[in-house]
Amino acid sequence: MSLIVQKFGGSSVADAKKVENVADIVTSAKKNGNDVVVVVSAQGDTTDILIEKAKEINKNPSKREMDVLLSTGEQITISLLAMAIEKRGFSVISLTGWQAGFKTKSNHTNARIIKIDTTRLKSELEMNKIVIVAGFQGIDRLFDITTLGRGGSDTSAVAIAAALHADLCQIYTDVDGVYTADPNLVKNSKKLEEISYDEMLELATLGAQVLHNRSVEMAKRYNVDLEVLSSFKNVKGTKVKERVNVEKLLIRGVTKDDYTARIALINVPDESGYAYHIFSLMGKNGINVDLIVQSYGSKSKKDISFTVPLDSMELATKILKENQERLQIEDIKVSDSVSKVSIVGAGMQMNPGVAAKFFEALYNANINIHMISTSEIKISVLIDKKDSSMAINSIHDAFFE
Ligand code: ADP
Ligand code: ASP
Ligand code: MG
Repeated sequence: MSLIVQKFGGSSVADAKKVENVADIVTSAKKNGNDVVVVVSAQGDTTDILIEKAKEINKNPSKREMDVLLSTGEQITISLLAMAIEKRGFSVISLTGWQAGFKTKSNHTNARIIKIDTTRLKSELEMNKIVIVAGFQGIDRLFDITTLGRGGSDTSAVAIAAALHADLCQIYTDVDGVYTADPNLVKNSKKLEEISYDEMLELATLGAQVLHNRSVEMAKRYNVDLEVLSSFKNVKGTKVKERVNVEKLLIRGVTKDDYTARIALINVPDESGYAYHIFSLMGKNGINVDLIVQSYGSKSKKDISFTVPLDSMELATKILKENQERLQIEDIKVSDSVSKVSIVGAGMQMNPGVAAKFFEALYNANINIHMISTSEIKISVLIDKKDSSMAINSIHDAFFE
């Protein structure tokens, strides 16, 4: 007998008919002789609607109260799905994140899982029940409710699969696999049969929301067998695993991230230790810095530009302004009308023409590049947000047509 963890995202459980469809998928896995743990997200746009509701009352609510609110979305789904499964004559139980044993750190709205106490999960499975768990949530050491960050239900599923040593973790969603680009943005994108953890981690981190990046990180660490597949079409999905064949493919995918902002520090002192002062200030305040460019200035001055996630833009600007005089920054310029566009693929290490082809595609589309960053398996550029859809289509055509 196998143990399977199945995760269903918001669009897969958006209404009663879709919940019934999920109940059919889950019960058929059970009928086939498997133990099944199911992780679900909030229905449809519920999480966005809850965020709007909060903002109607308070523009700047505390993160603790946001978590109390947001965790309710997933709780609706677990009960409804359990009812649909009960109706089919199966033994089932729904559990909230904390009932399922999710212990997290205290950083509300973006909490990390510390461990899962699997006692309850195991005892319910031993009683031959299908177990339905609310994704995206846990509890901290003060027993306060936490959530794992947008898209975090994928991570809940992989964490359970790792903790229970499941044989397989299936991520059911509204597309039938991982594609060479977002199939809703790039018409000719192609489904990948398989992708490595490292490539998927880069794609997810660089904007492909089909999997939460921490779920991929965790799948790699605990060697969880992961598969992305459709809730609506019964076809083979994409396997995410340690080793895949990289021979023929130059790159594995193209992606964009519109949730980024650029901060430019103009005319700062050109002296050693300066970058350290700036980036340690960002780090201390929990702000992730991504692309960085330092330009030659004149008269012992230089400019430093970098990108931060869009939701850190205000905090980063506030901190820099508070320290502007001390750090001798002549001017601070901030822009949120930028987008990061990236290609990812382990094959680029062996193929020297990849960067040229990438830049040529942007040139052909007449797109100006503000920043560039590369690693062994990715190249990213920062461009104007208005150009980002055109950019990914042009790059995709260059590599995959
Ligand atoms: P769920 O609600 O099931 O968690 P998400 O909306 O989080 O679903 O993720 C699925 C979406 O990810 C797809 O509808 C698609 O638009 C988007 N996506 C972005 N990049 C890719 C990609 N490379 N392959 C497949 N889907 C992608
Ligand atoms: N409901 C949460 C969100 O919309 C978590 C998830 O769907 O994975 O971000
Ligand atoms: Mg998702």
